[in-house]
Amino acid sequence: MIWSELKAEFDKIYNSDSLCIEVQEKIENGTLTYAKANEYAIKIGEKMAKFLNDNNALPEGISYEEAKSILTDSLGYSYKLASNAACAAQKKVNDDAEIGLNAVSPKYQKDRIDGLAKEISSKGYANIKNSVDDQIVNFTQSAVDDTVSVNAYFQAHSGLSPKIKRIAEFRCCKWCSNLAGTYDYPAPNDVYRRHSNCRCTTEFVAGKKKQDIWSKKIIHDGSKTAKLRKESPISSKVRFKTQEMPRDEYIKAVSLWDKYEEVKIHYEGGKERLYEELDNNLTYEEKMSATINKNVGNYRYTALHKGHNQYKIIKEVPLDPIEKMFKEEYGELYEQLFG
Ligand SMILES: [Zn+2]
Repeated sequence: MIWSELKAEFDKIYNSDSLCIEVQEKIENGTLTYAKANEYAIKIGEKMAKFLNDNNALPEGISYEEAKSILTDSLGYSYKLASNAACAAQKKVNDDAEIGLNAVSPKYQKDRIDGLAKEISSKGYANIKNSVDDQIVNFTQSAVDDTVSVNAYFQAHSGLSPKIKRIAEFRCCKWCSNLAGTYDYPAPNDVYRRHSNCRCTTEFVAGKKKQDIWSKKIIHDGSKTAKLRKESPISSKVRFKTQEMPRDEYIKAVSLWDKYEEVKIHYEGGKERLYEELDNNLTYEEKMSATINKNVGNYRYTALHKGHNQYKIIKEVPLDPIEKMFKEEYGELYEQLFG
Protein backbone atom coordinates (compact mmCIF):
# COMPACT_ATOMS: atom_id res chain seq x y z
CA MET A 1 0.00 0.00 0.00
CA ILE A 2 1.45 3.35 -0.94
CA TRP A 3 0.55 6.66 0.59
CA SER A 4 -0.40 8.47 -2.60
CA GLU A 5 -3.32 6.06 -2.96
CA LEU A 6 -4.33 6.48 0.66
CA LYS A 7 -4.00 10.21 1.00
CA ALA A 8 -7.13 11.03 -0.98
CA GLU A 9 -9.09 8.71 1.30
CA PHE A 10 -7.68 10.34 4.39
CA ASP A 11 -8.53 13.78 3.03
CA LYS A 12 -12.14 12.69 2.58
CA ILE A 13 -12.35 11.75 6.24
CA TYR A 14 -10.59 14.95 7.20
CA ASN A 15 -12.93 17.13 5.16
CA SER A 16 -16.01 15.65 6.74
CA ASP A 17 -14.89 16.28 10.31
CA SER A 18 -16.41 19.30 12.02
CA LEU A 19 -13.33 20.13 14.12
CA CYS A 20 -11.05 19.93 11.07
CA ILE A 21 -13.38 22.22 9.13
CA GLU A 22 -13.55 24.65 12.04
CA VAL A 23 -9.76 24.72 12.36
CA GLN A 24 -9.26 25.32 8.64
CA GLU A 25 -11.62 28.29 8.84
CA LYS A 26 -9.84 29.66 11.87
CA ILE A 27 -6.46 29.28 10.21
CA GLU A 28 -7.75 31.27 7.27
CA ASN A 29 -9.24 34.10 9.30
CA GLY A 30 -6.42 34.23 11.83
CA THR A 31 -8.38 33.32 14.94
CA LEU A 32 -6.95 29.92 15.82
CA THR A 33 -5.70 29.58 19.41
CA TYR A 34 -3.09 27.21 20.75
CA ALA A 35 -5.76 25.46 22.80
CA LYS A 36 -7.69 24.67 19.64
CA ALA A 37 -4.52 23.68 17.77
CA ASN A 38 -3.75 21.19 20.54
CA GLU A 39 -7.22 19.71 20.43
CA TYR A 40 -6.89 19.43 16.67
CA ALA A 41 -3.45 17.78 16.83
CA ILE A 42 -4.82 15.07 19.12
CA LYS A 43 -7.76 14.55 16.79
CA ILE A 44 -5.56 14.34 13.70
CA GLY A 45 -3.30 11.84 15.44
CA GLU A 46 -6.26 9.69 16.46
CA LYS A 47 -7.71 9.86 12.97
CA MET A 48 -4.41 8.89 11.38
CA ALA A 49 -3.92 5.97 13.76
CA LYS A 50 -7.40 4.67 13.04
CA PHE A 51 -6.99 5.27 9.33
CA LEU A 52 -3.76 3.27 9.08
CA ASN A 53 -5.38 0.47 11.03
CA ASP A 54 -8.61 0.47 8.98
CA ASN A 55 -6.63 0.32 5.76
CA ASN A 56 -4.23 -2.32 7.00
CA ALA A 57 -1.38 -0.02 6.06
CA LEU A 58 0.99 -1.78 8.46
CA PRO A 59 0.29 -5.45 7.67
CA GLU A 60 1.77 -8.51 9.32
CA GLY A 61 5.32 -9.13 8.12
CA ILE A 62 5.92 -5.57 6.95
CA SER A 63 9.62 -4.83 6.56
CA TYR A 64 11.40 -2.01 8.32
CA GLU A 65 11.85 -0.14 5.04
CA GLU A 66 8.19 -0.45 4.10
CA ALA A 67 7.01 0.59 7.55
CA LYS A 68 9.39 3.51 7.50
CA SER A 69 8.16 4.62 4.11
CA ILE A 70 4.47 4.54 5.00
CA LEU A 71 5.04 6.17 8.39
CA THR A 72 7.23 8.90 6.92
CA ASP A 73 4.47 9.84 4.48
CA SER A 74 1.46 9.43 6.72
CA LEU A 75 2.87 10.78 9.97
CA GLY A 76 4.77 13.43 8.06
CA TYR A 77 1.38 14.50 6.75
CA SER A 78 -0.37 14.55 10.10
CA TYR A 79 2.62 16.39 11.59
CA LYS A 80 2.37 18.96 8.82
CA LEU A 81 -1.36 19.49 9.39
CA ALA A 82 -0.80 19.95 13.12
CA SER A 83 2.22 22.21 12.71
CA ASN A 84 0.35 24.39 10.21
CA ALA A 85 -2.34 24.88 12.83
CA ALA A 86 0.21 25.55 15.56
CA CYS A 87 1.95 28.12 13.34
CA ALA A 88 -1.36 29.86 12.75
CA ALA A 89 -1.87 29.96 16.51
CA GLN A 90 1.65 31.31 16.93
CA LYS A 91 0.95 33.97 14.33
CA LYS A 92 -2.10 35.04 16.33
CA VAL A 93 -0.03 35.20 19.54
CA ASN A 94 2.56 37.32 17.75
CA ASP A 95 -0.06 39.62 16.26
CA ASP A 96 -1.95 40.02 19.54
CA ALA A 97 1.26 40.92 21.34
CA GLU A 98 2.34 43.15 18.46
CA ILE A 99 5.52 41.21 18.00
CA GLY A 100 6.76 41.99 14.54
CA LEU A 101 8.05 38.49 13.92
CA ASN A 102 6.85 35.64 11.78
CA ALA A 103 5.84 32.33 13.22
CA VAL A 104 8.47 29.74 12.42
CA SER A 105 7.48 26.19 11.63
CA PRO A 106 9.24 23.15 13.07
CA LYS A 107 10.57 19.98 11.50
CA TYR A 108 9.85 16.60 12.97
CA GLN A 109 12.47 14.33 14.45
CA LYS A 110 13.12 11.58 11.94
CA ASP A 111 14.44 9.17 14.53
CA ARG A 112 11.02 8.95 16.15
CA ILE A 113 9.66 7.52 12.91
CA ASP A 114 12.66 5.23 12.52
CA GLY A 115 12.10 3.91 16.04
CA LEU A 116 8.44 3.27 15.46
CA ALA A 117 9.13 1.52 12.12
CA LYS A 118 11.69 -0.70 13.85
CA GLU A 119 9.21 -1.62 16.56
CA ILE A 120 6.42 -2.42 14.10
CA SER A 121 8.61 -4.51 11.78
CA SER A 122 10.10 -6.54 14.62
CA LYS A 123 7.03 -7.06 16.81
CA GLY A 124 4.14 -6.80 14.36
CA TYR A 125 1.58 -4.01 14.46
CA ALA A 126 -1.26 -6.24 15.72
CA ASN A 127 0.70 -7.15 18.85
CA ILE A 128 1.48 -3.59 19.82
CA LYS A 129 -1.45 -1.77 18.30
CA ASN A 130 -2.33 0.29 21.38
CA SER A 131 1.23 1.47 21.82
CA VAL A 132 1.63 2.33 18.14
CA ASP A 133 -1.67 4.21 18.04
CA ASP A 134 -0.66 6.18 21.09
CA GLN A 135 2.75 6.98 19.61
CA ILE A 136 1.06 8.26 16.47
CA VAL A 137 -1.08 10.64 18.51
CA ASN A 138 1.92 11.59 20.61
CA PHE A 139 3.99 12.28 17.51
CA THR A 140 1.27 14.47 16.01
CA GLN A 141 0.95 16.40 19.27
CA SER A 142 4.70 16.97 19.20
CA ALA A 143 4.12 19.23 16.17
CA VAL A 144 2.52 21.73 18.54
CA ASP A 145 5.22 21.29 21.21
CA ASP A 146 7.92 21.75 18.57
CA THR A 147 6.23 24.90 17.29
CA VAL A 148 6.13 26.30 20.82
CA SER A 149 9.72 25.32 21.37
CA VAL A 150 11.18 26.63 18.12
CA ASN A 151 9.32 29.94 18.38
CA ALA A 152 10.39 30.39 21.99
CA TYR A 153 13.93 29.77 20.88
CA PHE A 154 13.59 32.22 18.00
CA GLN A 155 12.02 34.97 20.07
CA ALA A 156 14.36 34.57 23.01
CA HIS A 157 17.24 35.09 20.62
CA SER A 158 15.50 38.07 19.10
CA GLY A 159 15.54 39.96 22.36
CA LEU A 160 12.11 38.96 23.66
CA SER A 161 11.22 36.97 26.75
CA PRO A 162 8.81 34.24 25.69
CA LYS A 163 7.15 31.87 28.12
CA ILE A 164 6.05 28.30 27.72
CA LYS A 165 2.89 27.09 29.37
CA ARG A 166 2.19 23.46 30.08
CA ILE A 167 -1.39 22.53 30.82
CA ALA A 168 -2.18 19.27 32.57
CA GLU A 169 -5.05 17.32 31.18
CA PHE A 170 -7.80 16.78 33.71
CA ARG A 171 -6.85 13.80 35.86
CA CYS A 172 -3.52 13.10 34.20
CA CYS A 173 -0.78 11.70 36.44
CA LYS A 174 1.05 13.26 39.37
CA TRP A 175 4.17 13.85 37.28
CA CYS A 176 2.08 15.91 34.87
CA SER A 177 0.29 17.95 37.52
CA ASN A 178 3.67 18.81 39.03
CA LEU A 179 4.93 19.87 35.63
CA ALA A 180 1.96 22.09 34.79
CA GLY A 181 2.69 25.81 34.88
CA THR A 182 4.23 28.70 33.00
CA TYR A 183 7.96 28.71 32.39
CA ASP A 184 10.42 31.31 31.22
CA TYR A 185 12.51 30.35 28.24
CA PRO A 186 14.42 28.03 28.27
CA ALA A 187 11.91 25.70 29.89
CA PRO A 188 13.19 22.36 31.23
CA ASN A 189 13.07 19.65 28.55
CA ASP A 190 10.43 17.75 30.50
CA VAL A 191 7.94 20.48 29.68
CA TYR A 192 7.87 19.19 26.10
CA ARG A 193 7.81 15.52 27.07
CA ARG A 194 4.81 13.28 27.12
CA HIS A 195 4.42 9.81 28.55
CA SER A 196 2.18 7.29 26.83
CA ASN A 197 -1.49 8.25 26.77
CA CYS A 198 -0.66 11.70 28.10
CA ARG A 199 -2.82 14.40 26.53
CA CYS A 200 -1.30 17.34 28.35
CA THR A 201 -0.60 20.31 26.12
CA THR A 202 1.84 23.17 25.68
CA GLU A 203 1.22 26.73 24.59
CA PHE A 204 3.35 29.71 23.76
CA VAL A 205 2.89 32.85 25.84
CA ALA A 206 4.29 36.11 24.54
CA GLY A 207 6.64 38.00 26.86
CA LYS A 208 7.73 41.59 27.12
CA LYS A 209 10.78 42.96 25.43
CA LYS A 210 13.84 42.42 27.52
CA GLN A 211 15.60 45.51 28.77
CA ASP A 212 19.03 44.08 29.09
CA ILE A 213 19.67 42.16 25.96
CA TRP A 214 20.93 43.52 22.73
CA SER A 215 22.17 41.38 19.94
CA LYS A 216 24.13 43.06 17.24
CA LYS A 217 21.21 42.43 14.90
CA ILE A 218 18.71 44.28 16.99
CA ILE A 219 20.94 47.17 17.87
CA HIS A 220 23.41 47.41 15.09
CA ASP A 221 24.00 51.09 14.71
CA GLY A 222 27.01 52.48 16.44
CA SER A 223 25.22 55.37 18.09
CA LYS A 224 22.94 53.17 20.11
CA THR A 225 25.78 50.92 21.18
CA ALA A 226 27.69 53.98 22.22
CA LYS A 227 24.71 55.16 24.22
CA LEU A 228 24.42 51.85 25.98
CA ARG A 229 28.08 51.98 26.71
CA LYS A 230 27.65 55.36 28.32
CA GLU A 231 24.68 54.20 30.33
CA SER A 232 26.40 51.05 31.48
CA PRO A 233 26.68 50.98 35.28
CA ILE A 234 30.19 49.62 35.01
CA SER A 235 32.46 52.46 35.90
CA SER A 236 35.85 50.95 36.40
CA LYS A 237 37.26 49.43 33.25
CA VAL A 238 40.63 48.16 32.29
CA ARG A 239 42.03 48.39 28.85
CA PHE A 240 43.30 45.11 27.62
CA LYS A 241 44.98 45.27 24.26
CA THR A 242 42.40 46.94 22.07
CA GLN A 243 39.47 46.05 24.19
CA GLU A 244 37.88 47.58 27.20
CA MET A 245 36.56 45.26 29.81
CA PRO A 246 35.29 45.84 33.33
CA ARG A 247 38.02 45.29 35.88
CA ASP A 248 36.09 42.75 37.91
CA GLU A 249 35.30 40.71 34.81
CA TYR A 250 38.92 40.75 33.76
CA ILE A 251 40.01 39.64 37.21
CA LYS A 252 37.43 36.89 37.11
CA ALA A 253 38.74 35.70 33.76
CA VAL A 254 42.31 35.64 34.99
CA SER A 255 41.36 33.76 38.14
CA LEU A 256 39.43 31.15 36.17
CA TRP A 257 42.05 30.83 33.46
CA ASP A 258 44.33 28.38 35.24
CA LYS A 259 41.54 26.35 36.74
CA TYR A 260 40.35 25.08 33.38
CA GLU A 261 42.06 23.10 30.68
CA GLU A 262 41.21 24.03 27.16
CA VAL A 263 39.06 21.27 25.64
CA LYS A 264 39.68 19.54 22.34
CA ILE A 265 37.41 21.13 19.78
CA HIS A 266 35.73 19.73 16.68
CA TYR A 267 35.11 22.97 14.85
CA GLU A 268 36.26 22.33 11.30
CA GLY A 269 38.18 25.55 10.92
CA GLY A 270 40.37 24.75 13.94
CA LYS A 271 41.09 26.69 17.09
CA GLU A 272 42.51 29.89 15.61
CA ARG A 273 39.59 30.23 13.26
CA LEU A 274 37.19 29.65 16.13
CA TYR A 275 38.83 32.43 18.18
CA GLU A 276 38.47 34.68 15.18
CA GLU A 277 34.81 33.77 14.79
CA LEU A 278 34.23 34.58 18.44
CA ASP A 279 36.15 37.82 18.24
CA ASN A 280 34.21 39.05 15.23
CA ASN A 281 30.81 38.19 16.57
CA LEU A 282 30.64 39.19 20.21
CA THR A 283 27.91 41.52 21.31
CA TYR A 284 28.84 44.47 23.47
CA GLU A 285 27.57 42.60 26.50
CA GLU A 286 29.75 39.62 25.67
CA LYS A 287 32.79 41.75 25.09
CA MET A 288 32.39 42.93 28.66
CA SER A 289 32.15 39.43 30.04
CA ALA A 290 34.69 36.91 31.40
CA THR A 291 32.68 33.96 30.18
CA ILE A 292 30.97 33.56 26.85
CA ASN A 293 28.46 31.13 25.45
CA LYS A 294 28.32 31.25 21.70
CA ASN A 295 27.14 29.08 18.84
CA VAL A 296 29.69 28.55 16.11
CA GLY A 297 29.17 25.92 13.41
CA ASN A 298 27.30 22.99 14.84
CA TYR A 299 28.42 23.55 18.42
CA ARG A 300 27.80 25.73 21.38
CA TYR A 301 31.01 26.90 22.97
CA THR A 302 31.70 28.11 26.44
CA ALA A 303 34.85 30.16 26.57
CA LEU A 304 36.78 32.13 29.12
CA HIS A 305 37.54 35.53 27.76
CA LYS A 306 40.00 38.14 28.90
CA GLY A 307 39.98 40.54 26.03
CA HIS A 308 40.57 40.79 22.33
CA ASN A 309 41.55 37.41 20.86
CA GLN A 310 42.18 35.97 24.32
CA TYR A 311 40.03 32.90 24.67
CA LYS A 312 40.12 29.54 26.29
CA ILE A 313 37.48 27.08 25.15
CA ILE A 314 36.29 25.16 28.19
CA LYS A 315 33.22 23.43 26.83
CA GLU A 316 31.94 22.26 23.49
CA VAL A 317 28.48 20.75 23.06
CA PRO A 318 26.66 19.87 19.87
CA LEU A 319 23.64 22.08 19.24
CA ASP A 320 20.40 20.59 20.48
CA PRO A 321 18.01 19.16 17.88
CA ILE A 322 15.69 22.17 17.91
CA GLU A 323 18.58 24.52 17.45
CA LYS A 324 20.03 22.40 14.69
CA MET A 325 16.68 22.19 12.97
CA PHE A 326 16.31 25.92 13.26
CA LYS A 327 19.69 26.45 11.73
CA GLU A 328 19.05 24.09 8.83
CA GLU A 329 15.63 25.48 8.15
CA TYR A 330 16.34 29.16 8.71
CA GLY A 331 20.00 29.44 7.86
CA GLU A 332 19.95 33.08 6.90
CA LEU A 333 17.91 34.21 9.85
CA TYR A 334 20.06 32.09 12.12
CA GLU A 335 23.19 33.76 10.79
CA GLN A 336 21.63 37.15 11.41
CA LEU A 337 20.92 36.26 14.98
CA PHE A 338 24.17 34.52 15.84
CA GLY A 339 26.58 35.31 13.05
ZN1 LIG B 1 0.00 14.26 31.12
